[in-house]
Amino acid sequence: KRENDDHDRLKKAIEEFDPKATPASRFSDLPLCEATASGLRASHFDTLTDVQARAIPAALKGADLLAAAKTGSGKTLAFLIPVLEKLYHAKWTNNVDGLGALIISPTRELAVQIFDVLRKIGRYHDYSAGLVIGGKSLKEEAERIDRMNILVCTPGRMLQHLDQSFGLNVSDLQILVLDEADRIMDMGFAHAVDALVEHLPRERQTLLFSATQSKKVSDLARLSLKDPEYVSVHEAA
Ligand code: ADP
Ligand code: MG
Repeated sequence: KRENDDHDRLKKAIEEFDPKATPASRFSDLPLCEATASGLRASHFDTLTDVQARAIPAALKGADLLAAAKTGSGKTLAFLIPVLEKLYHAKWTNNVDGLGALIISPTRELAVQIFDVLRKIGRYHDYSAGLVIGGKSLKEEAERIDRMNILVCTPGRMLQHLDQSFGLNVSDLQILVLDEADRIMDMGFAHAVDALVEHLPRERQTLLFSATQSKKVSDLARLSLKDPEYVSVHEAA
């Protein structure tokens, strides 16, 4: 009952939230669930960076995003916060619901970094989260990720799992994130991403982040974004 009240209140707060009229400067200004808000406080995140201030409100309202901001601008939280909130809004439950969010990274190292930030800010949620970056046999990895709610993956490895499908169910996926989409393209993963997305439900939110605005990234966007919100943060001159 109390949980339902919280959901209703949050839903209303998001609808009423107008970032153009009142831009958020602190995480406490954002309509976030208590678990995410506490996780951010415990991780000592207080003030939003520019890309976070532009991307998070639009993503909370459910928009697809095509966002470009330079390295070091804080893109990781700009997508991890919407990921946690999306699952909370959907009343996602560990052990009951399966894979709700998929985050694609060009390299293993970056995937591990994203996973570490997720563990920090997501500490008060009880979603299960895993890495799909290889290193163990496909079968071992498949058993481990079977009931994960959030996966951080590299494109080739994730595609292997989906193609071989040891029972990994992606049909309820709520949100897909591509981090460093420009590098994903530069590293020759376009085909893997195309094939991977073929496995995913069309009815989902998609967030695409990159360090540069390149033609290659908009090529990627053709297959996944619905009426996207464009976020581009330039350095102050
Ligand atoms: P990007 O992915 O754009 O290169 P990151 O997400 O890796 O940037 O963030 C770069 C650094 O900035 C990290 O050390 C991160 O902890 C820090 N950071 C991100 N957002 C904030 C914030 N709102 N307040 C303080 N530090 C932040
Ligand atoms: Mg990054």
